[in-house]
Amino acid sequence: MSIRKSALQAIANAQHDLNRIDYKKIRLKDLFGDHVFNESVQRERLPKPIFKALQRTIKNGEALHPDIADSVASAMLDWALEKGATHYTHLFQPMTGLTAEKHDSFINPSNEGKAIMEFSGKELVKGEPDASSFPSGGIRATFEARGYTAWDPTSPAFIIENPNGATLVIPTVFLSWTGEALDKKTPLLKSMEILSHHALRILKLFGNTAAQKVFTTVGPEQEYFLVDQNFYLARPDLLNAGRTLLGAAPPKGQEMEDQYFGTIPERVLAYMADCETQLYVLGVPVKTRHNEVAPGQYEIAPIFENSNLATDHQMLTMEILRKTAPRYGLACLFHEKPFAGINGSGKHNNWSMSTDLGENLLNPGDTPHENAQFLVYCVAVIRAVAKYPELLRVTVASAANDHRLGANEAPPAIISIFLGTQLEDIMEQLEKGAPTSTKHGGTMEIGVTVLPKLPKDAGDRNRTSPFAFTGNKFEFRAVGGSQSIGGPNTVLNTIVAESLDYVATELEKHIGSGKDLKAAIQHLLPEILKTSKKVLFGGDGYSEEWHKEAVEKRGLPNLRTTPEALPVIIRKDSIELFTKYKVYTARELESRFHILCENYVKTVSIESKLVVLMAKTMVLPAVTKYLGEVASTVVSMKAAGVEPGAMGDTLNHLTTLANGLYKSLAHLEHAIAHVPHGTLHDETVYLRDHVLTAMKEVRKNSDELEGVVADDYWPLPTYREMLFIR
Ligand code: ADP
Ligand code: MG
Repeated sequence: MSIRKSALQAIANAQHDLNRIDYKKIRLKDLFGDHVFNESVQRERLPKPIFKALQRTIKNGEALHPDIADSVASAMLDWALEKGATHYTHLFQPMTGLTAEKHDSFINPSNEGKAIMEFSGKELVKGEPDASSFPSGGIRATFEARGYTAWDPTSPAFIIENPNGATLVIPTVFLSWTGEALDKKTPLLKSMEILSHHALRILKLFGNTAAQKVFTTVGPEQEYFLVDQNFYLARPDLLNAGRTLLGAAPPKGQEMEDQYFGTIPERVLAYMADCETQLYVLGVPVKTRHNEVAPGQYEIAPIFENSNLATDHQMLTMEILRKTAPRYGLACLFHEKPFAGINGSGKHNNWSMSTDLGENLLNPGDTPHENAQFLVYCVAVIRAVAKYPELLRVTVASAANDHRLGANEAPPAIISIFLGTQLEDIMEQLEKGAPTSTKHGGTMEIGVTVLPKLPKDAGDRNRTSPFAFTGNKFEFRAVGGSQSIGGPNTVLNTIVAESLDYVATELEKHIGSGKDLKAAIQHLLPEILKTSKKVLFGGDGYSEEWHKEAVEKRGLPNLRTTPEALPVIIRKDSIELFTKYKVYTARELESRFHILCENYVKTVSIESKLVVLMAKTMVLPAVTKYLGEVASTVVSMKAAGVEPGAMGDTLNHLTTLANGLYKSLAHLEHAIAHVPHGTLHDETVYLRDHVLTAMKEVRKNSDELEGVVADDYWPLPTYREMLFIR
């Protein structure tokens, strides 16, 4: 029996335990945050002055006094022991885009041959995992193994329960001995700080001195696929590359449109509820669940939080989704394009800025004063995206996302902004600098006459836009399903910080020279819009015309693939920007460029080898078997004096296809064997132009054979099975 047939049989016979949570007994509300060393636990367990000092660090970004660490560690230890923890770990986010952890036990031998449980402030604050095996992009040679993790008190510690034990997890940043960031959290924190600084300058001009800090907020919507684990294990490509490298389009794809928001299959719903329960216990505010557009595709979305916490919680969400799936006989796929020809998975990054008092700076509000402030922040964001579209593009560049972006279902690689008709109209009026307009029945002069009231949902949605205003936030939709949101948000925060800096400086200048705030704004915003409006686009982002207009008329960059996008990281203007705002050093940028090139090279190389392996050891043997059977039938028919007819045609057809597969395979192997010696970036270009194309050719032949070879012999689980058996 082929592995595919045994997978199908296993699925048919499987009995899944779907009732794992006694939802009538447990009270989710009471469980929320139960495993988190959160504010209420801190208040309860820390001496008052220590609690207050810690809260000042968390809420206002004040530096943490080293003396308080011991006290916090001791309270954490007591709490963790009560929860059954035996170990602690510093959790960090190396440049692999995943999380990493190294566990240490609380147990220390005592003098009398017994053991005591210990956890010191030093252990809380600093860890020293061997950093040599994490990508550093040349910042550190392997022999310079020192890397440090440092406690991030702004993201609360929590407890993860595993079979046979529980671990206290401490979110940390990860640095090299020389102080360079080796992770995704450090630059994100820096970008949040710099944005806060410049956003506050503008708030002050509006007379708001109460706010102490501005946080960027993020609500990431995660799309993912679930396939039966039996299929997953029977496909080397899914197992090792996260996507199918071969596989014919199914007779039924997503054209019936019967999946989106459809009834969630029972097994999937049970799985979702299990994941959500675990996430609630960890204080992750997941909110929404539904079927997505593609068959077998789903979405989970949390309530937004500050970017740092949202990023940590997003990593945790992926981890829980991934790890829980096997309990339900499922495999969870985050890959940007697991199935060719079927919608891929993104991670819509809903983003805004909010004061520590909870005022959303991108909320249009109802009064003219609020509107003016909103317009200033909104125009600053538009300016940032218009000025640095390539930087935003490069934050979502990966071998995997290349299959999704611009694939007529996901946003194109051209970065543009959708504002919605109403806001678009306001920007047009604003740009003309004409203070009076009667379009909405009132005149428009910022801060004085009544601005058109902006309802929360100003206009329709536009799914084709990579960067869309959605009522009171922007949604960056090009982020890939498997990506950490750390990188995209770091860049977004930095480019907006630069813009806010510019706006604040200009407004301060005008005001310094005697203009009032209103006049200063009335002067500045039209000026910005004149140069930035090229990035505003409300039409169909998928259309040919837009691609032409964007590139030819508007001069917007269209970096189609990762090899085109990556060099932006080390361009002079990028280095200037990030070093000016101290988010990345030049060396850190260089290292990130290197790591991303390397990721691309590794990904495509692994995929290409998998294609060769699967074609040779799975597809060709099946073809040979069937071919042998058909050939012997033809021989027997001829021997019996019967005209082989259809069987003869089948034999010829099979032979032609098999030869085609064989030839394309030889071509691919040749391409793999002839990777040029050059820079890593040269290699990415070569792999894109020669290896990926050769892989496609093999796939074309193999997929055609899938439609001819007897079903009994076909070894790989097919699209029609993987996508529709839930
Ligand atoms: P949809 O985009 O499907 O209409 P919502 O508007 O409710 O759904 O929000 C989608 C995501 O955007 C959610 O994760 C939500 O928490 C998040 N979100 C809402 N407001 C903000 C904000 N001010 N900043 C960041 N994210 C936000
Ligand atoms: Mg949305």
